Amino acid sequence: MAAVLSDLSGKVSRAVKKSEVERLVKDLVRIPSHSDVPTREKRVAEFLNEYLVSEGIASKLRTVQKDRPNLIAVIGGSGSGKKLMLNGHTDTVPAYDMDMPPFTPRVVKGRLYGRGALDMKGGLGAMAMTLVGIRRSRIKLNGDLILTAVIGEEQKSEGMEDIVLHGPRADMAIVGEPTDMEIQPSHRGLEWLEVHFYGKAAHGGQAEKGVNAISMASRFVQKVEQDLMPRLRARKSRSTLPPTLNLGVIQGGQQPSSVADHCVIKIDRRWVPEENLQQVFEEFYDLFDKLKAEDPKFRAELKRDPSNMLTMTHVPNVVSVAHPVVKSLGNAVKSVTGRSAKLTSFWGWTDAALMTHFGKTPTVVFGPGGAGAHAKTEYVRTDDLVKCTRIYSEVALDICARDQRN
Ligand SMILES: [Zn+2]
Repeated sequence: MAAVLSDLSGKVSRAVKKSEVERLVKDLVRIPSHSDVPTREKRVAEFLNEYLVSEGIASKLRTVQKDRPNLIAVIGGSGSGKKLMLNGHTDTVPAYDMDMPPFTPRVVKGRLYGRGALDMKGGLGAMAMTLVGIRRSRIKLNGDLILTAVIGEEQKSEGMEDIVLHGPRADMAIVGEPTDMEIQPSHRGLEWLEVHFYGKAAHGGQAEKGVNAISMASRFVQKVEQDLMPRLRARKSRSTLPPTLNLGVIQGGQQPSSVADHCVIKIDRRWVPEENLQQVFEEFYDLFDKLKAEDPKFRAELKRDPSNMLTMTHVPNVVSVAHPVVKSLGNAVKSVTGRSAKLTSFWGWTDAALMTHFGKTPTVVFGPGGAGAHAKTEYVRTDDLVKCTRIYSEVALDICARDQRN
């Protein structure tokens, strides 16, 4: 099997020139696809679709929301093997105040610069070139090799929800977010929460007649830091980084001479597989009870932030390190780079969690390295683009071209 696999993968890597991978990623970066673009991800999805079709690959667009299509491309297998899905997102965050031209990609000393180069048009380009290489080398697959390029990962994961609900289906999947070529089978869940504090308005000159919601918020923050944070820090996970809580936003009051009757704090809570969402909520209710016992006028309400998700909770991603897709990636990394792959856990949240949990398709995260996702200077390493294309190709051949009768 090993000899056969290396023969096949040699054929695939000869079918795709290094410069082609780089050129495709540059072309993707050149087309803005962030939330301030009126047609959002449409142009980049159309561009990639046309390119794949021109290579003879069955690729199509499926509209998820107005002007916002997912791309679904398939190299069909004979039906006797396992199906593998490669997945990336087509949206990026806006340019914000980047210190370089965001949509004029440049390669300097092995780094390809531009908005989305790393997060994640680099990984997406390498995945697309994997299909192109396998198609050009005319290798017969037993199981389908699928590429899905989805919208909205930076916002509500509208694209991945659509794939989970309407297909296509695979036996396992890889999300090509940037991991510095480390294999990341698991990561934490993500919940955005709002805590609303309700007081009573009064004139600032007669503040004793009111109830100050800002003061309540301040007491809540102290309780979080003294009571909850130490407990979170002590909590360890077997498969992910430890849980976190970030106080991200505070808003409240109207003007200095009024007692604030409302204040809200927005929280980012990263939860580990050993926790559950109910427990996350109950820990806040417990703090509310303690604060109420100290002051009967304390009134707070916990809400889920509606801007965080569409319908599917952003659960943790958990895939066994013994799963075939993890093993296969490990072998491919070793064969392409000559070193053993690191197994780590991503600090962020990804679409992989929706596919693993709701789509019942074990999905791991693996992609190129670089720096500056969402930051002022963003780049992906061009060497990694080529290596990732070869690694994805080896995994695809291992999973989809393995003869199931042997
Ligand atoms: Zn991303």
